[in-house]
Amino acid sequence: QLLPPPRTRIFKIIVIGDSGVGKTCLTYRFCAGKFPEKTEATIGVDFREKLIEIDGEKIKVQLWDTAGQERFRKSMVQHYYRNVHAVVFVYDVTSAASFRSLPAWIEECKQHALGHEVPRILVGNKCDLLNSVQVSTDLAQQFADTHSMPLFETSAKNPGSGDGGSRGSSDHVDAIF
Ligand code: GDP
Ligand code: MG
Repeated sequence: QLLPPPRTRIFKIIVIGDSGVGKTCLTYRFCAGKFPEKTEATIGVDFREKLIEIDGEKIKVQLWDTAGQERFRKSMVQHYYRNVHAVVFVYDVTSAASFRSLPAWIEECKQHALGHEVPRILVGNKCDLLNSVQVSTDLAQQFADTHSMPLFETSAKNPGSGDGGSRGSSDHVDAIF
């Protein structure tokens, strides 16, 4: 008996956080394997995908990266959260403000992903800027624990940089996704 060819499963991940934290760069790094030469502010939704293989099965990972701008968000937000498999919250380790915004992003996510439990992770980006760090690992870890999320500190620009340890792996961006 002939079986129909297996459909490629799609895994939808949304990437959320303040404008400028590096969402576009992180998704670009994951999908294209490098840091983008230059990024423009995301308008509406940025969308990238990458085909990966897990246990011999091909899986299409879709990364949705939204604009921070309110006027775009209002109309897009419902669409954005539909059928989400995982949520990545991003802050910039050199921006305390971006870290302080996280509760609001988490709240928005709760309201739109109502009813279903979605895996969530927390990502501190720009760890290559060692001398400008404003958000300590301890503080971020505490926050992550409070919200039952794993924490990854990394850099879209230079994944191998940072202070070593949890920030050290050269394929850290891959590890996150
Ligand atoms: P988004 O608004 O969250 O999508 O942020 P972008 O990805 O557009 O990045 C905003 C700015 O931060 C750009 O100028 C990027 O070059 C810069 N940027 C992003 N990721 C990193 C990083 O890991 N390290 C450094 N040093 N700069 C970064
Ligand atoms: Mg962007």
